[in-house]
Amino acid sequence: MYRQASYSTKLIFEYAGEKKEGGEAERLLKERLPPGLFREMLEIPDVPENIVMRHYTNLSQLNYGVDNGLYPLGSCTMKYNPKYTEKAAGLREFSLIHPYMPDEAVQGALRVMYELQTYLAALSGMDAVTLQPAAGAHGEYTGMSIVREYHRYNGHPERNEVIVPDSAHGTNPASAAMAGFKVIEVPSNERGQVNIEALKAAVSDKTAAMMLTNPNTLGIFEERILELAEIIHGAGGLMYYDGANFNAILGRAAPGLMNFDIVHFNLHKTFATPHGGGGPGSGPIGVKEKLEKFLPVPAIEFDGGMYKRNYDRPHSIGKVHGYMGNFAVILKAYLYIRRLGISGLREASERAVVNANYLMRRVEKIEGLELPYKGPRMHEFVVGAEPAKKEKGIRTLDIAKRLLDHGIHAPTIYFPHLVEEALMFEPTESETKETLDYLISVMEEIMSEDPETVKKAPHNTFIGRVDEARAAKHLLLSWRDIETESEA
Ligand SMILES: *Cc1c(COP(=O)(O)O)cnc(C)c1O
Repeated sequence: MYRQASYSTKLIFEYAGEKKEGGEAERLLKERLPPGLFREMLEIPDVPENIVMRHYTNLSQLNYGVDNGLYPLGSCTMKYNPKYTEKAAGLREFSLIHPYMPDEAVQGALRVMYELQTYLAALSGMDAVTLQPAAGAHGEYTGMSIVREYHRYNGHPERNEVIVPDSAHGTNPASAAMAGFKVIEVPSNERGQVNIEALKAAVSDKTAAMMLTNPNTLGIFEERILELAEIIHGAGGLMYYDGANFNAILGRAAPGLMNFDIVHFNLHKTFATPHGGGGPGSGPIGVKEKLEKFLPVPAIEFDGGMYKRNYDRPHSIGKVHGYMGNFAVILKAYLYIRRLGISGLREASERAVVNANYLMRRVEKIEGLELPYKGPRMHEFVVGAEPAKKEKGIRTLDIAKRLLDHGIHAPTIYFPHLVEEALMFEPTESETKETLDYLISVMEEIMSEDPETVKKAPHNTFIGRVDEARAAKHLLLSWRDIETESEA
């Protein structure tokens, strides 16, 4: 089955213009290669092409993605990403350029970035945009650094508190803390929105900013958003908009008009790059005019003839990413916006919201589940499985695992924390009514079948129920870890 790799050793020498083979070639290679690199002769499996092909094709199918089926992972906007954007990102004209090339040589790429900045500014109601941050959380951190610089510039370095609601995404308090702020949490009211009285009590002359997602992670739109902004601005703070949920309001409402001063976008999520694969992302931020001078360098500018990178910005917080950010992601977002146009973007957000509400109205009626807070939702919703836990002992984790048996990716679970046994569904605009009906019928089946079957799920997947606590504590990330583990 195995053939010694000496044939390729012989080839290496042939390429180098030398004629060596067999044992001599091996010995010479060992001498010439850095110690430690050449451990022993490789044993390369001798297998036919079709076996190799089947092996890799089967491997590729062990993983689940939005191209396999429904992926209603709330707060992640796992929408279908059209393939023309991938194709364009692979074009040599884009993929082979280098950030050290002079401005004159990369006018096309600079134009894409410049125009995307203007589109994002228009969609969000902001005055200026940077494309540098590499993720939503990175955008938050960049925004919080700008908040700090703004207060310092205005002679108020003592403003060191950032207010976040209890429904916030975990990255919000983390980013604020990373930027050196103290985090103040405000509770939600009985409608799942920010408690205004608690907010009034939380602001002071130490308030630097408030971070808010609107619609929030319950999928609920903060109806009193203008009042919230007034309270923060009145106290001298800035309003930061977590725009990861932008898919809900795309082309319909703008954070700038809700009186936010800073917003980040998740190009991966809203604009044609998949989220959740751990691959490169992009979290541009937009700011109002008074904050523009603090944006990272280089700024991309256009003088009517040429696109240029400008590093000469004395008040800038500096660089937050090597070079210009993740260009391929930026390019895909640009194409997606150009292709859909404003009417297409509006239609996307409309469908995302209609899909979420259709799904919610059916799922909330299923026995064992309950919908906290009244009223319609935007792009996503959260139900609790507390009744099922009490009545049958099945938990949200069991339901999530059982969904896998039906070829459906699990929704986000146990988040946000203010709902017990939370299941957070975000169907996005990509899914058809037939697919949503399938999800509903599967949920109905799971909630009425034998609880023991649900508790032991999944039954049909390649890997059964894993011990998640152990998996997190004993990370085995490579063959090296596995080797050490089995020796121990
Ligand atoms: C995804 C998300 C973030 C963070 O984005 P990353 O790119 O994962 O860092 C922040 N806020 C909300 C509401 C999100 O859904």
